[in-house]
Amino acid sequence: MGPLRVLNLGAGGFIGSHLTQRLLAEGHIVTAVDLYSDKLGENLEHPRLTFLRQDIRGDWNLDELVEGSDLVIDLIAHANPGLYIRIPLDVFRLNFLENLKIAEACVRHGKHLIQFSTCEVYGRTAASLPHAALANPEDPIHATFAEDSSEFILGPVNKHRWIYSSAKQLLERVVHAYGLQEGFHYTIIRPFNFLGPKIDFLPSDNQDGVPRVFSFFMDALLTGAPLQLVNGGHQRRCYTHIEDAVECIYRIVINAGGVCDREIFNIGSPYNEVSIRQMAEIMREIYARRFATPGDPLSEIVELGGDEFYGSGYDDSDRRIPDITKARTLLGWEPRWRVQELLESTMEYHVDEFRRKRDALSVRVS
Ligand code: UDP
Repeated sequence: MGPLRVLNLGAGGFIGSHLTQRLLAEGHIVTAVDLYSDKLGENLEHPRLTFLRQDIRGDWNLDELVEGSDLVIDLIAHANPGLYIRIPLDVFRLNFLENLKIAEACVRHGKHLIQFSTCEVYGRTAASLPHAALANPEDPIHATFAEDSSEFILGPVNKHRWIYSSAKQLLERVVHAYGLQEGFHYTIIRPFNFLGPKIDFLPSDNQDGVPRVFSFFMDALLTGAPLQLVNGGHQRRCYTHIEDAVECIYRIVINAGGVCDREIFNIGSPYNEVSIRQMAEIMREIYARRFATPGDPLSEIVELGGDEFYGSGYDDSDRRIPDITKARTLLGWEPRWRVQELLESTMEYHVDEFRRKRDALSVRVS
């Protein structure tokens, strides 16, 4: 197979920037579209990369770009719980209406689309329902979600966190329907909590933003503020190293033998389940051992309610473990990173970045 011309929408984000790096390293030709470019770093200068700073909400040359590519990857989304609470309408508009335009352009031009969705489509576990009477509610079977057989359990409309999940679910259903009725070639990816260098931003750098939990905890450790556990930190997540994730995504890009056509893939590490409380404790222990200045007090761990932290309308996935049988069988993929090393290496990157920026600032000030 020769080099692919890849239209990478949302290439400037966390997943997009790592994926762009891999696509370029493998010899492909990438048109990267994003509002931001800082995470792309020196790849911006790469001869096989064209970067277009573009807001997709409005008129732009989508059709022309889709027509000129072999493959379209759509990563554009509002994808932080803080945003689902603050700007639910924008979440719907971007994650459904605007993404649908991209999918329909791919249908029009007969191009394969890799559509990023979310593990959040699965919602909550049956074991979390108030009247569930399961013999063994802790059995991981109740929290292990498979692409083509698991049910979706979402909260009521007034818990508007679920607008994100619903928008992504509807997009998946429409894309699937285009496959059925019009022979559209697509692959849907449901990421399970990817983590690694360049995730989000630190809240102390961007007072307005609401990043994901790793960045809140990292920032708290670096600034001596408390690590805040929402609703006791009992919720569990499976963290997946971005390197493992990109390996799987790349196999989907190559799509050897067409095995990914009209398939949905969970990408995540079923081995890395931690509660948010455990994650806070592990990160605090790593910070104390590796990065803290001896004698400085360590951040405390405190608890607060979801509405207090995010605002009203917050609800949560209690637990989600990916069933990755499909990625294993069709793609021969297996995640390698385990959670302790994943957290430690991601923290190392972010501590270095924080100190580098702080030092640069103090040089400028002095
Ligand atoms: N959370 C927390 N403290 C924080 C930020 C988030 O306890 O400072 C919780 C949040 O309520 C959720 C989990 O951490 O249960 C993961 O949240 P995140 O924003 O990383 O994204 P999600 O996995 O829910 O998409």
